[in-house]
This record gives sequence, C-alpha cells and structure tokens, in this order.
Amino acid sequence: MRPLVVDRGAPGGATTHVAAGMLAPVSEAAFGERALLELNLAAAGRWRAWADEVAAAAGVDAGLRECGTLLVARDRDQAEALERELAFRHECGLRAERLLPSQARDREPALSPAVRLGLDVPGDHAVDARRLAAALATAAQRLGGRVRADTEVAELLVDGDCVRGVRLAAGEVVETDAVVVAAGPWSGMVAGLPPAAQVPVRPVKGQTLRLRDPAGAGLLERVVRSEEMYLVPLGNGRYVLGATVEERGFDTAVTAGAVHDLLREAAEIVPGVLELEVEEVLAGLRPGTPDNAPILGPGALGGLHWATGHYRHGVLLAPVTGATVVAGILGEPPPPEAAPFAPARFASVEVPA
Ligand SMILES: Cc1cc2nc3c(=O)[nH]c(=O)nc-3n(C[C@H](O)[C@H](O)[C@H](O)COP(=O)(O)OP(=O)(O)OC[C@H]3O[C@@H](n4cnc5c(N)ncnc54)[C@H](O)[C@@H]3O)c2cc1C
Repeated sequence: MRPLVVDRGAPGGATTHVAAGMLAPVSEAAFGERALLELNLAAAGRWRAWADEVAAAAGVDAGLRECGTLLVARDRDQAEALERELAFRHECGLRAERLLPSQARDREPALSPAVRLGLDVPGDHAVDARRLAAALATAAQRLGGRVRADTEVAELLVDGDCVRGVRLAAGEVVETDAVVVAAGPWSGMVAGLPPAAQVPVRPVKGQTLRLRDPAGAGLLERVVRSEEMYLVPLGNGRYVLGATVEERGFDTAVTAGAVHDLLREAAEIVPGVLELEVEEVLAGLRPGTPDNAPILGPGALGGLHWATGHYRHGVLLAPVTGATVVAGILGEPPPPEAAPFAPARFASVEVPA
C-alpha cells in the first residue's frame, strides 16, 4: 500500500502532542471492561516489536521506555482503594505486586514518606508520544507513503454505498479505494457521510503540565500514579504531569485550578516536583465514545474505515489499530481481540439499491 496521510495541522500535532504516552493496560484495568482489557493487553504485547519496526523504518528511535509503573496511595482511603485494585488485578490474572511504603521508596527514592501503600506494575511502560508520531511520519514516507501537513479534508466523497475519495478544503479531489478516518476527537464531524454511517465521537478534555529537571534525568525511573495524577518520566529529565478529565466540548483553555490541583497532588507524592521547571501547560481532547472503547475497522459504506475513539489509550493501541485497519482494507478478519470494537456497534446504513 502507498498511503497518503493528510492532516489539517501537523501530523501528531493535536491530541497525540498532549498525550502522556503511558502504555498502561494493567494500571488502567477497570471493572466491567474485560474486552477492552484484552485489547489493551494485546496492544501492549505488540509494542516492543512494533517500536523496533518503526525505528528500523524511520532510522530514529521511537521513544519506548520499558520502565514499569508504580501505583501509590497517600492516605488511608486511597490505600483501601488500592488494595481493592490489587485484588481485582489478581482476579484477572494480571501482574501487580503489593509494596510496603519502605519497599516502594526503595524502588523510587523520590517518593514522599507520606506514601501509605504501593503497587508495582512491572509490565506497564511509556513512550514519548511526540517522538513516536515523528518517527511514524518519517517511516511512512521512507516506505513509500506520503504525508501532507496543513491539508484539510472538506468532505468524503460518497457514490451510492461506497466512499470513493475525499475533497480537500483547497478544492482538490483525491480518489482512492479506501479512506481511513483517523481524525481523533473530530471524527464524528466528517462531512459527506450519511448520518447513519457516522460514528459517535466526543472530545474529553485533559489538562497536563510538562516539567523539566535542570539537574537532568533521575528523579523518577518509573511512571508514578495516584488516584488523582500521574507523573511520566520521558527519560531526558522531562516529565508529563497529568491529567484532568473534563466534559467541556472543544474547549482547550488551561485553567489555574487544574494546574494547582495537579501540582498539589504531585507534590504530596513526589515532593521534588516543586523543584522542576514548568515548560508547558496544555490541554488536549481525548476522542471519547459512548462505551469509552475505540472504533476500529470497516465502516458502514464500502471503502470507509475507522481508526478512532481511542479515548485514554490511543498511544497504547497504535500497533493493534494499524493491524486492524490494514486487515480491513485487505478484506481480512481483524485480530481477534479487536473484533468487539468494530464500527457496526454504532453505525450501519441501509443504502437504497
Ligand atoms: C491529557 C491526555 C493524556 C493522555 N495520555 C495518554 C496516555 O498516557 N496513553 C495513551 O495511550 N493515550 C493517552 N491519551 C489519549 C491519546 O492521546 C489519544 O487517544 C490519541 O492521541 C488519539 O490519537 P488520534 O490520532 O486519534 O487523534 P489526534 O492526535 O487528535 O489526531 C487527529 C488528527 O486529525 C486531524 N484532523 C481532524 N479533522 C481533520 C480534517 N477535517 N482534515 C484533516 N485533518 C483533520 C487533526 O489535525 C489531528 O492531527 C491522552 C490524551 C490526553 C488528552
């Protein structure tokens, strides 16, 4: 295949630019989301080989850090909740180890003495999402694809029950057998499709801070998470501190309250955070769906494919998303763990003959 990627901004410049880059199927396992857990685990299992493949194709490192994750509780209520989280993970057969506060601090000396309980999740890693996006764009081009930035799609062109291309905002028509809609939180607004072929995607705002340690790397080795925040070391003395979860439409304003709350919670757990420099404060829009699960594979019209609705896991799910979309375009079945996430659960159309 020789794909053409069009993005109205810089590819990777929207939600992916804000993402913390956690690959966290076990830390984020939730009651009642068994199928999503299986998908997330399958994605995590693909990551090492996929990152190597991207790096080989791009000629640059894809930014994967196999660092593990530590979940921590800083008071009794949080500790009780963490005990329940541990029991749930063991019921699911997931790897997580209970740590006394002293054991947690042995692994991450920057943790506050106030930490009451830890949970070591050795298989949850992280990637620098910005680096990954840049590597993917380079890899696509080196493998014969094309990437056009600052190129907006005005509408999909539909002929009967088939999509046959897109019309760009500048007027140019691109004809193709397959169109993959991967427009993040804007995926529910694509013009040209009959309403019944659309999928329901909404923006879920998340505010984050990017911090830098002038002394270089070393404050934290692992991702550290509590109920209310996470700190993700990018490995170069930089950290992502996140994140709020807000239903505020397409609003991307950053607020004093969010910055205050995130820093206060982070400093309770890793006091050294207060020595870091603030490099960026930013908000992104997660592509959410009614069941908080992604929408992957062939759509309700011929030639239409979706790769969207990744909500909190778009970076984690990248390898399995790629495999699912490619299988759909080739007319092959998706990887088994992706089958429950077909667009048909939301969109189907009866097109008159
Ligand atoms: C604060 C925050 C933290 C997160 N942390 C994590 C994490 O730790 N791990 C994880 O796995 N996920 C995380 N996520 C989720 C993850 O960022 C998203 O699921 C993922 O980035 C979505 O990628 P996407 O390519 O679908 O969307 P985007 O990155 O938003 O890309 C969509 C692209 O479509 C383009 N576009 C839209 N409309 C058009 C049009 N008409 N024409 C042309 N181009 C168009 C946009 O310009 C944009 O570049 C986080 C998200 C947020 C907000």
